[in-house]
Amino acid sequence: MTTLALPATEDLRARARACLDRIGVVVPEGDDLYARTPITGEDLFGLKGSGTAETEAAVAAAHETFLTWRSTPAPRRGDVVRRFGDLVREHHDDLAELITLEVGKIGAEAYGEVQEMIDIADYAVGLSRQLYGRVIASERAEHRMVESWHPLGVVGIISAFNFPAAVWSWNTTVALVCGDTVVWKPSEQASLIALACDRLLARAAEESGAPAGIHHLLIGGRETGETLVDNPRVALVSATGSVPMGRAVGPRVAARFGRSLLELGGNNAAIITPSADLELALPAVLFAAVGTAGQRCTSLRRLIVHRDVVAELVPRLTAAFERLPVGDPFDKDTLVGPLISRVPLETMREAIARVTDDGGKLLVGGDRVETTADSAAYVRPAVVRIDAHSPVVREETFAPLLYVLTYDTLDEAIALQNDVPQGLSASIFTQDQQEAEIFMSAVGADTGLVNVNLGTSGAEVGGAFGGEKETGGGRACGSDAWHAYMRRSTSVVNYSGEVALAQNISFS
Ligand code: NAD
Repeated sequence: MTTLALPATEDLRARARACLDRIGVVVPEGDDLYARTPITGEDLFGLKGSGTAETEAAVAAAHETFLTWRSTPAPRRGDVVRRFGDLVREHHDDLAELITLEVGKIGAEAYGEVQEMIDIADYAVGLSRQLYGRVIASERAEHRMVESWHPLGVVGIISAFNFPAAVWSWNTTVALVCGDTVVWKPSEQASLIALACDRLLARAAEESGAPAGIHHLLIGGRETGETLVDNPRVALVSATGSVPMGRAVGPRVAARFGRSLLELGGNNAAIITPSADLELALPAVLFAAVGTAGQRCTSLRRLIVHRDVVAELVPRLTAAFERLPVGDPFDKDTLVGPLISRVPLETMREAIARVTDDGGKLLVGGDRVETTADSAAYVRPAVVRIDAHSPVVREETFAPLLYVLTYDTLDEAIALQNDVPQGLSASIFTQDQQEAEIFMSAVGADTGLVNVNLGTSGAEVGGAFGGEKETGGGRACGSDAWHAYMRRSTSVVNYSGEVALAQNISFS
């Protein structure tokens, strides 16, 4: 087995520095935490972190700005987002390069993540002219009942490493047009990308005449996140990350009657039915399982295959896994880049050991790729066939590990899909319309995203994104997800000139 040659960290540091310079970022150097590249697993820069005092100051400034920003007409608020979208277009390559450098996404996926930022900015600009309420029929004569949506306040965003820029932009662009101001605590594994996004938004504010205080960045880990979660002036905490993080954040925000929007872990499944077009299903399954090295919340983790299809599908799948080029994410031929750190490598090894103890059979992959950098974590994506029930399958292992299960009836397949605590994304591959309709119906998949003839990952910004059960119930992006960033008031106007009580109550 040959050793994978990786670029020198020194060269990667120079690349990062050049991207940050082009964007205009001044790196706050210090030794509170380290920006690292998973390409070699080594440090790029030491950074100064934000403590309680910085959080207090950021939230106070965001609140102060909110008091005027909320009264700025929404289409004018859209101007800053329009300019931001233009700046992201200008720096598309720089942002994508930083994403590859800091979280290890291959070029095409990093470029796609930046495209998603542009898409949501376009969406939010349009939304800035469509924040509407309802007029509802009143039961009283000559009364008018209206529902209005108003800005909420300061939105605290906590984001995960694996979509370091897109998730922030889903929240921020929508929150800003809704009239909120933002304080962002990004993943401690993606601070450089956050500095770049913050700088571009600051420039957009400057160039479009919006106040600088609409957005604030905090650099740090869990403790910094907690200062944001506990701050009573943060009206909404939008937190994206693991289920344990949501379990800690949700009750803390609820204890002070704040609002939270939780986007947590998934354990996504695809069902391959006897009528499935395998030419379509195989590449879709492959991308969903190993895209972003299995580190997407929507990554495919469980493949539920009809017993009649297993013999044909599984050998083709394992052969495709065997051929996957694992390596330097800057290399154009690479399809699977590094894991974010050695931690998921260990978690994946443990999961494989546990599932094989439970009767599972490792069909391919799972071995670490030898590299010229000791700290890097590259792994060959694995497929494990498991027929018996194993508790490991119900957990989200955030790495390229796909379990293959078999089924006989559609009811059984749907029950298997739903038999996990998470509820983010599910797919079915079928040419049978009845099966597809059942899968999307109330007795079908219990997830927030339900797809037919496409994989579990790769959502568009126009739809509401999020999931049920332990995934947290939050929705971000399109459709009516903007409601989460606003408060609703119901108003009744009496123009009858007489007293008229609801429910016909007489009180004279
Ligand atoms: P993580 O939970 O380790 O960290 C996420 C963020 O939460 C980080 O910024 C971290 O500093 C912060 N944090 C952690 N504990 C906290 C606490 N107690 N209080 C306040 N902040 C806290 O997750 P990760 O490893 O960065 O990302 C991977 C996880 O995120 C996976 O489980 C993945 O499925 C999930 N994810 C979900 C979605 C979604 O939309 N549903 C999107 C992306 C990632």
